[in-house]
Amino acid sequence: MSPRKKSSTKSRRKKESKSTVIVEKKPSKKKTSKKKSQVSIENIVNKVFDDAYRILHLDFLGIEKEKAREIVKEVIEPLITSSVKPDALLKRVQRFKNNLLKKIIYYLLEEKKDFTAEQLEFIIFNGEEALLPYMSLLYSLVKKNKLDHLIPILRSVWEKYGRPSPFACPYCGFKSVTPLLQCLICGRSISEKELKEHNEFDMFLKIFAEASSIEELDEAISRRKVLWGEKGIVSHKHPISPGEYLLEISLTDEEVGFLVSVLKYRKST
Ligand SMILES: [Zn+2]
Repeated sequence: MSPRKKSSTKSRRKKESKSTVIVEKKPSKKKTSKKKSQVSIENIVNKVFDDAYRILHLDFLGIEKEKAREIVKEVIEPLITSSVKPDALLKRVQRFKNNLLKKIIYYLLEEKKDFTAEQLEFIIFNGEEALLPYMSLLYSLVKKNKLDHLIPILRSVWEKYGRPSPFACPYCGFKSVTPLLQCLICGRSISEKELKEHNEFDMFLKIFAEASSIEELDEAISRRKVLWGEKGIVSHKHPISPGEYLLEISLTDEEVGFLVSVLKYRKST
């Protein structure tokens, strides 16, 4: 019994010591290769920095070299492979310039909350979807700097990449009115009257009056309310699909009177 025991302990010890050696070896190997690759990334970034700084317009953006070096390293790192030469890397920078610019712009927007007029122009002309989380900030900066010619670009970015609502805000013109009548871009509250005037409510009400059934007209008149969304105006009898954007909107005496006259006419014919 006893020698067997001894030998098993011995072998366990042997195993433990073996595994300890392996465990010790692994991280030291990793550490060296990581260190090495970081050194070579640093090295190649230093070699291409001046050209990349120019290609990516960081000089124009007025970013000081120390900060720019950090930015260049971060955005071009995914393009660096073990065997790439500086010339080839610069070609990749040129080829992916638009995407890299978006990354830089996103980075700048995260870091800073104020820009010169030139920087704002550059950011808005080149940012595309990177601008999306900062639309409200950019809108206020554009207004503050009296750069109204940039507003149509911001609007088109919002409509292309954002979540435009069916209704345009009377103050900023963006399709950004929430069902609670708040604007996501300029932050204003909008009255039902303003929303109707700015979004051709009268025309949609006429279409509703012509296209709806008598039951739907009855429903709208008795509630003195309709639902208004991207497909126009419907009554509360309308089946609502999930995710459908519909505002509940009150009818004025005049609007109810119009629906009553249409209903009377429809019932008489
Ligand atoms: Zn607005």
